[in-house]
This record gives sequence, structure tokens and C-alpha cells, in this order.
Amino acid sequence: MRIPLLVIGGGLSGLAAAIRAARFIPEVLLVEKHSRLGGLNSYFYRNNTLYETGLHAITNYADPGNKKAPLNRLFRQLKLRRNDFSFCQQIKSEVVFRNLETLAFSNDADVFETEVRNKFPQATARFQKMLDFIKYFDPFTPSPFRSTRSFLKERLQSPLLAEMILCPLMYYGSSREEDMDLSQFVIMYRAIFQEGMFRPQGTIKDLINILTDHYLQLCGTLRKNCEVKRILITEKRAVGVELENGEVLECDNILSTIGHKETLRLISNSEEPSPTELARLGFVETMYQLRHQSSIGLPKDKTIIFFNNGDKFSYKNPTDFVDFNSGVICFPANFHGLPQKGLTEIRSTHLANYSKWKLLSSTPDQYSRQKQDTSRRSAQMLENLTGSFALNIVYENTFTPVTIERYTAKISGAIYGSPEKIKDGNIGYPNLFLAGTDQGFLGIIGSMLSGVSIVNQHILPKL
Ligand SMILES: Cc1cc2nc3c(=O)[nH]c(=O)nc-3n(C[C@H](O)[C@H](O)[C@H](O)COP(=O)(O)OP(=O)(O)OC[C@H]3O[C@@H](n4cnc5c(N)ncnc54)[C@H](O)[C@@H]3O)c2cc1C
Repeated sequence: MRIPLLVIGGGLSGLAAAIRAARFIPEVLLVEKHSRLGGLNSYFYRNNTLYETGLHAITNYADPGNKKAPLNRLFRQLKLRRNDFSFCQQIKSEVVFRNLETLAFSNDADVFETEVRNKFPQATARFQKMLDFIKYFDPFTPSPFRSTRSFLKERLQSPLLAEMILCPLMYYGSSREEDMDLSQFVIMYRAIFQEGMFRPQGTIKDLINILTDHYLQLCGTLRKNCEVKRILITEKRAVGVELENGEVLECDNILSTIGHKETLRLISNSEEPSPTELARLGFVETMYQLRHQSSIGLPKDKTIIFFNNGDKFSYKNPTDFVDFNSGVICFPANFHGLPQKGLTEIRSTHLANYSKWKLLSSTPDQYSRQKQDTSRRSAQMLENLTGSFALNIVYENTFTPVTIERYTAKISGAIYGSPEKIKDGNIGYPNLFLAGTDQGFLGIIGSMLSGVSIVNQHILPKL
């Protein structure tokens, strides 16, 4: 039997797309190559403890009454009840440059705006004009790339303020070195500085389970450990897929959430990554589990710190394994109303060079030593901002771009995918479309909205 819609990839965009489609299409099949769903945002177990792989904080917080907010639109599109989730809002986050200049923000947009007015009084009027621009700009109509750095330089005329605004937005959503598309900037500014951040009270596993149960109740079909090896094309139409085990599934429509070039590689096996693709932005992340009493010295009122210690904020592929000059520090316990666990956790993220890590991964001992060195140096860097904690580490785990590549098959293990986004999801076939990271909406809410919008745009009108 031909499958009306096959969704490739059980990350958050694939799950959201499959749920949306299953509300209207009787036969939807979601295939995921791994044994767990969630993709970049998943979990693993060590010593009987569940660790989340990706989650720092979810952007785009909105109160239930705000009907137009992306979060509530997403819930309506998926027919999910907000009451099934308990959301905990961030306490307060901060941008810190050179350990001197700080800008705090929270889920109350006034906090950030007041900070900017107080700390950059000479830029107040220009900052207000920028806010007006953000308010009226439509970032969802596809348009050519516009440089945010040039826009901010001209609008704010305060290089430091511009860099401090850019730092969190780039770390949480730019796949492009040293700049970001103006539309993406507007989306991210609203998502982080105006709507704010939160996390579910449960773990990411609980969230994925709710989504999966909902999908199955809508009679969607799910196959895990099911890797697509080839997309079969006949007369410029997708006609099915061949799985890793040799099985062929025939289908009418395919929605791929695995990345643009990654999808093209399933069509033509010869698509080797080019040098520019290999230079995509990579990240290392270390999670430190600490003895509980050690948390006494750590900040209890900060959720995320975005920091930069360089003279200029540099957001590019480092020449060394890791660029420790800037990064993100996450305190996963510091959300309002979150039940406290036994151990305290702290996470650090920095930019990393995929090619160097990849080369080293062929010598496991050296790779492992480099990870240990990264963890140690990152902790030293963090301690300048958080106070000492390294002596109280009981468990630590570092992932590199090679880890991401292994678990999600993303080229160069690039979390944010290709710098070139396909905003309409159209990759040149009438019944094969792209959603997720390479469609251009990033992060958890962004990728889920991407899945929903591509189903709405390309799949449902065909019914
Ligand atoms: C360390 C880290 C921290 C993050 N922190 C946050 C955060 O705090 N807040 C936030 O909002 N976002 C965060 N993100 C980003 C967020 O996780 C992603 O933007 C989002 O989950 C992307 O979802 P996706 O479905 O587009 O892609 P993916 O999650 O990559 O999903 C693609 C899926 O396709 C599967 N797949 C690949 N190839 C095949 C194949 N051939 N056949 C079958 N299946 C295949 C993969 O296994 C994967 O499950 C973080 C990401 C990471 C890695």
C-alpha cells in the first residue's frame, strides 16, 4: 500500500509535522533512525540517571491568554492542551562582556529595555527606533539575506550594545558565521528578549512522550531504528524510500527534516560535503554534575549567562578545537517552580571546530584526552563568572560536533545546519519537501512550527 505521507526524522520538527498531518491524513508514517525520538533534543542514561542532551531553555514563552503568540499557535495547530504541561519560567538571564558590562533580561520585556536605557543612555532613542522596526517587520515573508551586523551598526551606532544584543541571538539561533539574516534576527529578538525562556517541569523525555502518545492516538504510525538509505525518484517525483535493511516503502509525499544537503545525499549518493559545508558552525557542550552543597556558591537567581571575554565578540568556526573566549552557561535548576534534584548541574557551551575534532576521533585516546582538557578549561573559564565549583564535580560529560554528527547525521555535526535556509521548504520536487533546521526556524519551538507550517503549506492543500 502506498503511504500518503512519510516523514523522515523523529526530531521535534518531524514529530510536530507528523502530529499536524495525522489530524487530517489517515496514514502518516514517521521514521527515525535511532531507538529514541527527539533528535538534537533527546536524552541518555548514565549510572541510572537521565541526562538531557540539548535542553537549556525553550524560547518563545507566552502566557496562555496570548492567543497570537507562537507557543499558543503551536498548541492549537497540534491540538495539544496547555494543561498537560507545567511550564517553569526562567528566573533571570544575563549577557556579560569582559566580566564588566552586563545586561539582564527576563520574561518581562521591560527588564531588558530598562537595562539598555540605563546602561547605554546615549543609545536610548536609537534603541527605541530599533524596537519599532522589530515590532512592524514581517520576518516570515521569504526575502534575500540582509546583514544584521550592518543593520545594527547603522541603527544603534553603539558597537558594544550591538554585540551584546547579538551574542545570545547568535548562540541560540544563527547558522551563519559572524552575522545573521535580519529576518532571523527579528524572530530571535522577539523569542528571547521579548517573549523569554522557560522549560517543562518534567524532563525532555516526558515532553517527547506526550507528543508521541498524542501522535499515536491520532492513529499515526511510528518506526524507530528505521534509517532511510535512499529516496527513490522517478520522473522528477519522489516515489518512495529504501530503508537501511533493504525494505522499500512506496509513498505519495515525503517530508524530510534531516537537513537540506543531507536530504539531497539520500537522492544522489554522490553528494559529498564540500569544504564550505565542513566548515559549518560546531559547538562543544559540557555538563557538570556537582555535589549538592557545592551549589551554595553558585548563582541561584540566574538561568542562562551568555558571555564574551574577547575585545570583539567573534562568532565563527575557531581555528583551535574550541574557542573559550565566549559561550553560554546554563543553570538548569534555576527556573521558577522547578522541583530541585539531588545533585546540582551546570552546563557550558562554546564554539568548536568540527574538522579538528573529526581528525582526532580516529585516535580514541587523544580524542578522549582532548575532551577532558576541554572540560577542565571550560570550567576554569566559567568559574570567573559563577564562582568555584570544579572541586565538587562528581560526573561530567562533554559532547563535540562529532558526537552530534554520530547521533543525528547532521553534516559536520552542525546543530543549526546550513547557513543557506530554504524558507518555503521547496527543494525542487513536487511531492518532497523540507522542514526543520534547514527551513530556517531554529530551536525547539521554531523547529516544531517549521514542521507544522510546511505541512500546512504543501501537504494539506493537496488533500
Ligand atoms: C546541545 C544543544 C542544546 C540545545 N539547546 C536548545 C535549547 O536550550 N533551546 C532550544 O529551543 N533549542 C535548543 N537546541 C536546538 C534544538 O534542539 C534544535 O533546533 C531542534 O531540536 C531541531 O529539531 P529538528 O527536528 O529540526 O532536527 P533534529 O533534532 O536534528 O532531528 C532530525 C532527526 O532525523 C533523524 N535522521 C537523520 N537522518 C535520518 C535518516 N536517514 N533516516 C531516518 N532518520 C534520520 C535524526 O536521528 C534526528 O532524530 C539545542 C541543540 C543542542 C544540540
